[in-house]
Amino acid sequence: MGSQYFYIVFSLMVISATLSLTFFMAWRNFGRKPHALTWSAAFLAGALQWLCSLYADLFPSREAFLLIENGFSMALVTLGLRGHCQRTNCRFLPSNLWPYVLAIYAIIAWHILVTPHVGIRMTVVPAFAAVTMLMSAYMVFAYRERTRPAEWVVVIGLGVFAITQVVAASLAFMQGATGDDSIAAAYGHFNFLTLPAGYVAVSTFIILMMASDISAKLKKIAVQDQLTGLLNRRGFEEYGSRAFSAARRSGQPLSVIMTDIDRFKYINDKFGHAAGDMALAHFSRLFAEPRRHEDVAARVGGEEFALLLPGTDLRDAMAIADQLRIKIGSTPLNTTVVGLPMTSSFGVAAISKKDKSLDDMLLRADRALYRSKRAGRNQVDLESSQLLRAGDGRLVPATS
Ligand code: GH3
Ligand code: MG
Ligand code: MG
Repeated sequence: MGSQYFYIVFSLMVISATLSLTFFMAWRNFGRKPHALTWSAAFLAGALQWLCSLYADLFPSREAFLLIENGFSMALVTLGLRGHCQRTNCRFLPSNLWPYVLAIYAIIAWHILVTPHVGIRMTVVPAFAAVTMLMSAYMVFAYRERTRPAEWVVVIGLGVFAITQVVAASLAFMQGATGDDSIAAAYGHFNFLTLPAGYVAVSTFIILMMASDISAKLKKIAVQDQLTGLLNRRGFEEYGSRAFSAARRSGQPLSVIMTDIDRFKYINDKFGHAAGDMALAHFSRLFAEPRRHEDVAARVGGEEFALLLPGTDLRDAMAIADQLRIKIGSTPLNTTVVGLPMTSSFGVAAISKKDKSLDDMLLRADRALYRSKRAGRNQVDLESSQLLRAGDGRLVPATS
């Protein structure tokens, strides 16, 4: 390639190859995420595209060069979009994009081979790139309830890059069927000014987003119980402290239900530890669903569970605990041999003005739980500064 663009095309080839290798390493070392491998393939296609441009003279014909070079460009753009689909599990695009891409490629091929048209041939790829980048930006944005900062920079980066591709597509189209030297020069300058920056900026942001995906996943693992999938004690305390402060600020009620499975040691001793684990998973399913979005269930100890109920007062929490007690007692775990009945004891507490932290509330729920145990198990009790369970089962104002 003897044109004034040699150095920039060479740089684009090296940048693409470097990014392909970087995404490949990210795939190998960070949990073999399919989207990382797809993006590696995308930039490999990019590197091959620029390699073709460098050695255009070696192709048997100009048409052969244009067909292959455009093929690699389309592959780069499509794989970029496909990677975002894989990362976000997007459902609004078909899982197989290739038939659509082939149809678009056919437009390019038609305007190379059948009715040559410089403007249309050069417009299709940047226009397609702009559309796919805007789709990708939307997917990244809509993927989570709360878009993370690293995702925001990808959204903005893709948006800006898409705008530059719209300008490039417009300049390309303005060349008309036979080409126009001054517009072609403007297109070349604009394209080679924006492409390297776009490649590097968007890819760097995407790598940052992948790092933030890993950090979010590690954070999730740190607060999740592996056996039941519920929050663990640490996660519960983190979430609970936030809910406690929010309830304090808003004056809304907040209740907690603590429960401990009755005679669980017996299940382990009689049926084995594996059956015990199955029983815990079974119990957690009954305990955690179906709940409102803001309720949080957690496994806070071996066979101890907690349910935090923002916006729920003590009476309603008592009713919920009682429903759970009945549901658990009447839904034995179906093992291959026998049905394994289980009961659980419950303690309930609600936020009180005297509470300094979530721990004060949890302590009262724990004390109520052990009163349930002492009173014979499979029951609900409460210890609250406002209400107490009377001997006949009614809730009465506390005297102390
Ligand atoms: P109580 O009615 O007084 O609560 O009796 P309990 O037998 O449930 O008493 P305790 O709390 O002392 O026993 C809990 C048992 O739970 C002891 C422990 O072996 C078992 N356990 C704790 N974590 C796990 C676990 O992850 N898997 C299994 N299978 N068992 C567990
Ligand atoms: Mg226990
Ligand atoms: Mg127990």
